[in-house]
Amino acid sequence: MRLERINWTQAEEYFRHNDMVIIGIGSIECHGRHIALGTDFLVPNKIIELMEPKCDVLIAPTVPYGSTDYLGDFPGTVNLGYDVLYAVVSKITQSLYKHGARKFLFMNGHGGNNAALQQVCMDLDNVNAMGCILNWWTLAWTLDPAWVGGHGGGEETAAMMAIGDDLVDRSLMADANVSDLTENLKTSSFAAINFRGFDILTRRNVRKMTDNGWIGVDHPTTATKEWGQKMLEGCAQYALDFIEEYKKVKLD
Ligand SMILES: [Zn+2]
Repeated sequence: MRLERINWTQAEEYFRHNDMVIIGIGSIECHGRHIALGTDFLVPNKIIELMEPKCDVLIAPTVPYGSTDYLGDFPGTVNLGYDVLYAVVSKITQSLYKHGARKFLFMNGHGGNNAALQQVCMDLDNVNAMGCILNWWTLAWTLDPAWVGGHGGGEETAAMMAIGDDLVDRSLMADANVSDLTENLKTSSFAAINFRGFDILTRRNVRKMTDNGWIGVDHPTTATKEWGQKMLEGCAQYALDFIEEYKKVKLD
């Protein structure tokens, strides 16, 4: 059931008997030259679409934009920043709370959104409500360790292949070409430099470290449509099972 497809009397009836809402949270940002800017928006959206036939929980429209300042120099990237994303998601949850929503499941596509979403969860907790953030790409690593990936690597490329043939351009798959700071300070992710096997967290403008925009252990050339389909279906089934357990949580 989609919020945008029902009328207010149906919404009223839903919240008379239910208190949960699923909301996708995305981002429009560079994922390397070979996949579309909407990866972090389209993937959670697709997982929710796969859940829909087996799901009795109300689905609110996916928020397409997120907080992604470190990728902001790549053309096409749109950054709401922490403050605006926090404000947008807060207003959405506050509106739905007013109508009876108490449990929120954020199907998240982008790591940069977590800080704002966690603050929203804390705010919800303060009014005897609850938010849970399901980061699909790390869930995938738990479902199958072979799916471990970085940003715009094989994992996300496979997911996008499963969504649409026009979203991935194999001819543009090149090495990540990520520069290290020194011989011993290796760029291990967009948010970390590795020294003697340990990741030290940092934040830098990604365009300073790569002219491509993907990073990870999972080269995009390893991606297949079958991998993507299996992974998205696995994430959808996990989320459906989680929802049944989440329903049992008592909030007061
Ligand atoms: Zn992504």
